[in-house]
Amino acid sequence: MEQSMEAWLPHPHSRPKLLIVDDQPTNIRVLHELFREDCDVFMATSGEQAIGVCRLQLPDLILLDVVMEGIDGHEVCRRLKADPATQGIPIIFVTAQQQESDEVSGLELGAVDFISKPINPTIVRARVRTHLTLKLQNDLLRSMALMDGLTGVANRRKFDEDILADWRQCFRERKPLSLVLVDVDFFKRYNDQYGHQAGDGCLKSVAQELSLTVRRPYDLVARYGGEEFACVLPNTNLAGAVEIAERMQERIRALGIEHSASDVDSVVTVSLGVATVTPTGDLTISALIEAADKQLYRAKIAGRARVCSSAISSK
Ligand code: GH3
Ligand code: MG
Ligand code: MG
Repeated sequence: MEQSMEAWLPHPHSRPKLLIVDDQPTNIRVLHELFREDCDVFMATSGEQAIGVCRLQLPDLILLDVVMEGIDGHEVCRRLKADPATQGIPIIFVTAQQQESDEVSGLELGAVDFISKPINPTIVRARVRTHLTLKLQNDLLRSMALMDGLTGVANRRKFDEDILADWRQCFRERKPLSLVLVDVDFFKRYNDQYGHQAGDGCLKSVAQELSLTVRRPYDLVARYGGEEFACVLPNTNLAGAVEIAERMQERIRALGIEHSASDVDSVVTVSLGVATVTPTGDLTISALIEAADKQLYRAKIAGRARVCSSAISSK
């Protein structure tokens, strides 16, 4: 009796995405029948279409026909492996060719496995299950490695990865990139007053509220260090970033977390430093971080519980 695929999914409510590529609709139909119960099945009948679907859907696994009109399976594989966005998607070649050399060349291109036609349903299901399990476990481990254990928001490693990718993209597109640094006011006193456990709880609430304040899919809230958070806002100008920072500062105060030892308020507050840059060749990410840090420092000495900001321009 075959086990349902649901059981081995890291997220039991999400279904794995499977892309089936074959220029013969009959072949697609057979495979679709086998997997439609357990997977979200996407289909493509040409190499061009397959590449388009991959970029759009980012499937978890591809069953890829080798011999097709136009761009063949090997070429599709080559192109997907050359693109950082799609190179992590495992590919299983499906082919009627029985030559060992074909199998070798497919594996050399980076395919994870090889299935021969005509399809044997038991073999295909077993192999698909194996490779989907590996892929989803890998995704899960990766997402855990990028998450802060206490607060559940992104960690410093994810921040470093994202800000680099955003920097490059904003550089290419000549768009502004904004950074907001958020620091809890008098947090040492909070710990002293209410205990470290309560301090941890406070950091969780602050992190969650900050996450709820950003809205666009590419905005990132990360734990930058102890009681400091960073918010990366691609394609956002200074006015837009300041608006978000002001909203953050108001919403954290509105949480109403008692802080009787604070000099600025009776509840937990944050100070925020905002900097914006349109990346150029002679500016660096460090310059952006330093600028935001400087504004955070200004907010602290100006009395805390406020936002300070500045745009940086190249010389
Ligand atoms: P300021 O208003 O100038 O930012 O003062 P502050 O007390 O917030 O700043 P300071 O840097 O002196 O102290 C930060 C405190 O944050 C000290 C540290 O014990 C606490 N902290 C850092 N990480 C954690 C954590 O994970 N949990 C708890 N409970 N406290 C933490
Ligand atoms: Mg600090
Ligand atoms: Mg602080």
